[in-house]
Formats: sequence, C-alpha cells, structure tokens
Amino acid sequence: MTLSRRHFLTAGASLPLAGLLGASTARAKAPLAGVQTAGIHRTLVGQAEVTALLDGYVDVATQLLSRFDSDEVDAAFSSNGYKTLDKGLRIPVNGYLINTGDRLVLLDTGAASLFGPTLGSLAANLKAAGVAPADIDLVVLTHLHVDHVGGLLDGSGQAMFPNAELVVAQTEWDFWHDDAMMAAAGEGAAAFFQAARNTTAPYANRLKLFDGEVDLGAGLSTMPLPGHTPGHTGYLLSSGDDALLFWGDVIHLTGLQFTHPEITIAFDTDPAMVKQTRARMLDMAAADGLSVTGAHLDFPGFGQVMRAGDAYRFQQAPWRFTL
Ligand SMILES: [Zn+2]
Repeated sequence: MTLSRRHFLTAGASLPLAGLLGASTARAKAPLAGVQTAGIHRTLVGQAEVTALLDGYVDVATQLLSRFDSDEVDAAFSSNGYKTLDKGLRIPVNGYLINTGDRLVLLDTGAASLFGPTLGSLAANLKAAGVAPADIDLVVLTHLHVDHVGGLLDGSGQAMFPNAELVVAQTEWDFWHDDAMMAAAGEGAAAFFQAARNTTAPYANRLKLFDGEVDLGAGLSTMPLPGHTPGHTGYLLSSGDDALLFWGDVIHLTGLQFTHPEITIAFDTDPAMVKQTRARMLDMAAADGLSVTGAHLDFPGFGQVMRAGDAYRFQQAPWRFTL
C-alpha cells in the first residue's frame, strides 16, 4: 500500500483528535445550517464604498457555449479548479451597491423571480447590507437582460426603487424597444424583449438615457462595451487615485473565458463583436493593472486581469478585512 500525503495527515491526526472530538467532550449537537450565509462583501474605491450583492446562480448548459466539448477546453476548465455539473457550468449573478458619500447607486438589479428559483436574492442581500430600496438614488444598468433588470420590479409589479432615476444606454434602450427587431429575433427571444420593456416601464418618467462615453457625476463614467447586447456598457468608478471598472458581462465564465477568450455564449447578440470587445478589454485591464468586477465573475467579483501565456487569468482580490 502506498501512503499518500493525505493518508499520512489523516492517520497522524486521528489519535489525538479522536479524544478531543469524542462524545464525552461534546457540548451540543448543532444542526447543520444547510444554506450559505448572506451574499454580501464590501470594498473601498477611494472614498466610495462598494458592496457586492449576490442575486444567486445560473447553471449554463455547455451546449450554449460556442465550443466546450473539445478535450482542450474541457481540460482548461477543470485545470482552473472548476467542475462541470450535470446541468452545466455554474455562474453567479452579482449586483453592486455604490455609496459615494453623497449618493447611493445600485448597479444592476438581479433577476428577482423572472429567471428561476436559483436567483432573486439581491433584495434580501441589499437589506442585509443595511439599505432600503427607497434610499437608492440611481439605478444604472449594464444592459437589459433579465438577470440584470428583473429586480427593478417588486412582487406586485411596481417600481422596487420608488425614488431612483434609471440610467441606460440609448442604444440599449432603442434595441429592446424596437418592434421590428423583436419580430425578427423570433418567438424564443420575445420573452427577453418583453422583460426588458416591462421591468423598465415604471421608470419611464425618470429615465436618463446616454450616448457613448459620458460622465454621470458622482465619479461614475460610462464605457461602451458592445457585443453581448448592442448597448452593453461598463461603468468606471473613480475616487481619488483609485478606480474600479464594473464591466457587466464581458466574461460569463471565470473558469473558462480568461483561458479561452474566444468562447462565446448563445446570449451574445453579436459574437464577433463580443470577441473584439473582450480582447480589447482584457488587454487594457491587464496592461493598466485596472481593478475590475463583473456580474458573472466569481462572487464578489473584485480582482485583476493577469496575462498568462497567450491568454489571461483572473486574480481575485484578497479578502478585505477593513474599510
Ligand atoms: Zn448577465
């Protein structure tokens, strides 16, 4: 028999631990919690506090990727420490609360009940972060896919954020409100168009549409990152010497697309443009040492892009102990 390091450690530890953990020293039998703790984590960008809010997760079927079943891609995914589940590849959905000191900004809102039971926790996590929906001054959206806009509505279909202005790229707004585009996209896509329209409708009288690169105030500026959707937009938060880019859906699979940036997903409106935008973004983030976060980067999402051979890897930011 060959003893592995693991056997060795287990065997070595078993004698004293058996005594320590024996029934005679047990004080209580606590039931297992069986659920994860609140999905919130806070960091600081200059003077601004940024709180990551987890909405939940989605299992992306591998058939939705432009390629996965080659040995090379499969191996890359597992060598990065990820597992393929029966239902596909599990990714988070994140939203972000930004407190600039003057204003409370919510960046993307999660899916609420519109995209299955594994999502919809953002509202509870916002509450756990100590913020009421009525306190939000501004909701900014990276794009109008349902996992980003669903949380705009409360359970009765009213505006979840009664005092917030809604910020969306004009191109994005126009695309989802174009009847000809909706008809051309086919029946399968109609629900996406309908969700984009329904969820934003209660905000029609407090809508701020913008074009291209603009300064929104409060240290936020827009960065067009088209491809995933026509008006898909990143938001750069700058404060003092510090900056953080919220890049939305530039990457869907942390375990795969830094290693294989050429892989696209069925939800990408224009896969060729996605590849161009992603290549430009990854190159810039790596070259500039830019801090980034995203809606589907492993929660809480804060980190940096590093070059790795011909491609990249994601360096998750260390746990933030203090603010
Ligand atoms: Zn998304």
